[in-house]
Amino acid sequence: MDEIKPAFGIYIHWPFCAKKCPYCDFNSHVQDAIDHDLWLKAYLRELRYYAAETSDRLVTSVFFGGGTPSLMKPQVIEDILAEIGRLWDCSEDFEITAEANPSSSETRLFQDFRQAGINRLSIGVQSFNDQALQFLGRLHDAAEARKAVESAAKIFDRLSFDLIYALPGQTPAEWQRALGEALTLAPDHLSLYQLTIEPGTVFHQDRVAAADEDIGTELYEITQGLMDHAGLPAYEISNHARETQESRHNLVYWRGQDYLGIGPGAHGRLTRDFQTEMIQNVREPGKWLELAQTKGLGQHKRTPITAEERRDEILLMGLRLTEGVSADHYHTLTGTDLASSLDQIRLQALENEGFITFRDNILKATPAGRQRLNAVLAHLLS
Ligand code: SF4
Repeated sequence: MDEIKPAFGIYIHWPFCAKKCPYCDFNSHVQDAIDHDLWLKAYLRELRYYAAETSDRLVTSVFFGGGTPSLMKPQVIEDILAEIGRLWDCSEDFEITAEANPSSSETRLFQDFRQAGINRLSIGVQSFNDQALQFLGRLHDAAEARKAVESAAKIFDRLSFDLIYALPGQTPAEWQRALGEALTLAPDHLSLYQLTIEPGTVFHQDRVAAADEDIGTELYEITQGLMDHAGLPAYEISNHARETQESRHNLVYWRGQDYLGIGPGAHGRLTRDFQTEMIQNVREPGKWLELAQTKGLGQHKRTPITAEERRDEILLMGLRLTEGVSADHYHTLTGTDLASSLDQIRLQALENEGFITFRDNILKATPAGRQRLNAVLAHLLS
């Protein structure tokens, strides 16, 4: 019988956007002239560097994230994918996602992205309300967002889009209408994020206030109810999908599996004999480009993580998932026993409070636990 290989993802970071959004704390930059050929060569060199030590892996997903990867030339994407195909074996149901923005110029390129090999598109719609889009500093309007989703649905078999909620002043009725409209576009996957004000962003500088916690909770509950009813239940805190339409690439992260991060600021995890290493790339695009060109990789640091750090990371990611973390999976990842790596008194206290369950060898956060996961984990892992 053929060996079943674990999932292995490759993330490619394109760090450029047409404009910096005031809430965004991603590694994204606005730059006038971009030499796509130079960037392609740098990506290929970094891919080849890591292939030398991971060519025995089976690649199950590639994700082009950013930044705005729909600003990449389709030929660059095609060449990267061709190189990945030469360097690694890829699974039969190989998922290749690109993030895209709904501006009309990018929508016109959707067909080219499909031809380049992208088979799943994730569109940064964020809202179907013009005022909200202006507040969020987006370059597209609601009509362009609808058109982008409709065009993408004709080209890509698998499609997701993002919406942001808990905007200042947003009422439950408004959010309910927005979700209703989103569902009329019949996506099979939706990412629904609450607006958070992150340090270093323009919103943080301008002291924009995040929604009140009670409103946030009410909107979150509305989201869960409507999405369950529509057949796209949450499989992760902010992600909803019809059965089998989950993002396989993001599941690699949440299930604690290995992945490569290619490009500026990207990070990766590589495990051999239960020892996981954390790899972090140089964040600044110009510096990464120079290093990748001259040395073949733009690594900032590569460090082994301790058993305790690994446990924390697996639970931090895995408890975001509705499926939770099974003891079998935990053992496959770490070679150790999940129950004995937990403090039983703290676990029991969280079970009594209704935030965690540990039944049939599966540790799960309850819906109430997922809503306050940081606090639950802080208690469990302290
Ligand atoms: S388009 Fe996306 S990545 Fe770019 S600045 Fe806006 S939120 Fe950030």
